[in-house]
Amino acid sequence: MKIFSDIIEIKKELRQFKNLSIGFVPTMGALHQGHISLVEKAKEENDIVVVSIFINPTQFDNKNDLNNYPSTLEDDISILDKIKVDYLFTPNFENLYPDNFTYQVEESSFSKKLCGKSRAGHFTGVLTVVMKLLNIVEPARAYFGEKDRQQFLLIRGMVDAFFMDVEIVASPTIRENNGLAMSSRNRRLNDEEKQIASLFPKLLGSNKSDSEIIDELNNKGFNTDYIEKLDGIRYGAVYLGNIRLIDNVKL
Ligand code: AMP
Repeated sequence: MKIFSDIIEIKKELRQFKNLSIGFVPTMGALHQGHISLVEKAKEENDIVVVSIFINPTQFDNKNDLNNYPSTLEDDISILDKIKVDYLFTPNFENLYPDNFTYQVEESSFSKKLCGKSRAGHFTGVLTVVMKLLNIVEPARAYFGEKDRQQFLLIRGMVDAFFMDVEIVASPTIRENNGLAMSSRNRRLNDEEKQIASLFPKLLGSNKSDSEIIDELNNKGFNTDYIEKLDGIRYGAVYLGNIRLIDNVKL
């Protein structure tokens, strides 16, 4: 696997694959089976696979969450090496934001709902960084997890709105044995919290009402941000201590 941090260098390198398809998997690192499933799908469907690792500060509405976000670059590199990823791109803030985030991609409707209600600016940070990364890597396809379904829908919408020449592919949520959706933030849960956390997906998929689920979660020690049904899918976000968990389940 070749590793690039420099934008001009990776653009130059990838130019040689003009006639091949590039599959791209953007991540914030602390890789787990969820990320690996996206890479495997990208490998099946493309000639070349590029993964990026960048903890994007502009999408964090909470400084503490950013400061505590796990960073495990050495382990990540050995995982990606083992599964034979072709390129790892690890840009830094100064390179990726020469404008210091004065230029932003903002969606004004769906991004204000669900997670956007309590995380002001979150999706603007996500859309902006994803547009930058897609412009650098110029993939045929880019892969996103269903776990972050609102994010996937907003990115697909952005690509359509701006006539960007890339296919946005969704990939199913990978879960722990107890049903908890895998997430880099789960590393910060202790064993007891992990067990409690498994209630969250169970209740999301239950036939209880949204408000019954909120009450039950709050009684069990969660702090619920929202539970909402939209287009046959129930979305939710909860805090366990100061760790935010999100998930969605088809009803
Ligand atoms: P992150 O590193 O959390 O920004 O995630 C990078 C990509 O991996 C995003 O497209 C996520 O939706 C996806 N992802 C994260 N967790 C999972 C999971 N448990 N199953 C499937 N995809 C996931």
